[in-house]
Amino acid sequence: MPLVTGGQVRYANFDYAASTPSLVRVKDAVDALLPWYSSVHRGAGFLSGLATDAYEGAREAVRSFTNARADDCVLFTRNTTESVNLLASALPAGTTVIAFRTEHHANLLPWRRHDAELLPVPCSPDEALELLEGALRAAPTGPRLVAVTGASNATGELWPYADIIALAHRYDARVLMDGAQLLPHRGVDVSALDLDYLAFSGHKLYAPYGAGVLLGRADWLRSGEPFLAGGGTVRYVTVDDVLWADLPDRQEAGSPNVLGAVALGVACDTLAELGMDRVAEHEATLLRRLRIGLADVPGVQQYSLWAPDHPRIGVATFTVRGLEYAEVAAALSAEYGIGVRHGCFCAHPLMTTLLGISDEESDHIRAGLRSGADAAVPGAVRASMGLGTTASDVDRLVAAVDSVARGGLRWTYASTPDGTSTWPHPDPRPRPELPFRMAAHSAAGPTAEAADAPVLAGTLA
Ligand code: PMP
Repeated sequence: MPLVTGGQVRYANFDYAASTPSLVRVKDAVDALLPWYSSVHRGAGFLSGLATDAYEGAREAVRSFTNARADDCVLFTRNTTESVNLLASALPAGTTVIAFRTEHHANLLPWRRHDAELLPVPCSPDEALELLEGALRAAPTGPRLVAVTGASNATGELWPYADIIALAHRYDARVLMDGAQLLPHRGVDVSALDLDYLAFSGHKLYAPYGAGVLLGRADWLRSGEPFLAGGGTVRYVTVDDVLWADLPDRQEAGSPNVLGAVALGVACDTLAELGMDRVAEHEATLLRRLRIGLADVPGVQQYSLWAPDHPRIGVATFTVRGLEYAEVAAALSAEYGIGVRHGCFCAHPLMTTLLGISDEESDHIRAGLRSGADAAVPGAVRASMGLGTTASDVDRLVAAVDSVARGGLRWTYASTPDGTSTWPHPDPRPRPELPFRMAAHSAAGPTAEAADAPVLAGTLA
């Protein structure tokens, strides 16, 4: 990575929770498939047959990685967001949906149309179970769904999902786990947990080729109209009628993302081979080092919902006293070659609680934004890690936060009026030559982020 202050350093990627690099095995698989690539199903060509087998093989890999039940339906989607929306479209009429307000927006907003009950932020895992039991007890009879994350993307804390599933089942409710953050870090055994539905994203699981998964009990997914209607979802169509196909075709409209699904399947097989216990151990050691390191930096506050020793994936979320969160993130990137994420991480209700934003302040921000004023939006910095993270990356991050906290910024920066985005001004960093069209450089916009290609060795492409 080029630095604004001159020279280059190895990129320290602390943004795994947003998206991971590709495993080399995944990239190699995609490269190997490309010359044989074709669309799946019903093609008479040799390539179509190969692509179909590769696609269905990926479904088997997902089934095996998650130990799904034999009669579970495994659907390929674009990502977790689409998976949750798909399930939301398939709930039986009148389903009571219960979720905590701490969820990522992907597992919060799709439930608005079902008038979901959003439980308050619990002070402990035990309180989460008490709140949930109260809601389940009070729920009307009929189908029920509890939608809960496996691990929080904002704090990394694991939700007590095994207890939640057991509790929900006592009240005849099904459970959807948003596994976007948990699956890259912990083994999830759908059969052993008796988990009803699981959603996750390939791009957070070292397979950034645009595929995600929804898997689980088939009955709800096959009962109504498909989430998306179109080619591939039907057995027969007349002008005034349609005979829908069975699963999985019924819920996989259009030409599927064969390369993405195969990439995801290879990631599942590779992680299974590596062993999720080893992955978890690697990250636990690094996370301890990071949290202890950050605790020693003056003015740094780390955020958690629950006790400091509560199990968590490799995520540390923090602010630095006296500096805006976006400034800290920009300085870590521009001056130190360290990539973190900042803001509210698509979990506004959770982050406003963690940051101690009162309801009045929150209303004030909302009213300001609604009226077009430039209200400052609160946020924090998130460092998240994964397979490619090393102890020296962690030490570099801690040292960089320490020098930012003690010495402030060493460069000049500009910010958007709402404070959500900050970038070096001027920005002398040379950009890499890439063999495709790039939009004109706007340092504040997404193009600047897109050019921040990580340079990682070893298992990551
Ligand atoms: N849930 C959680 C917990 C997440 O962290 C994310 C991604 N930040 C999502 C859902 C949504 O994933 P995607 O953007 O891949 O749909």
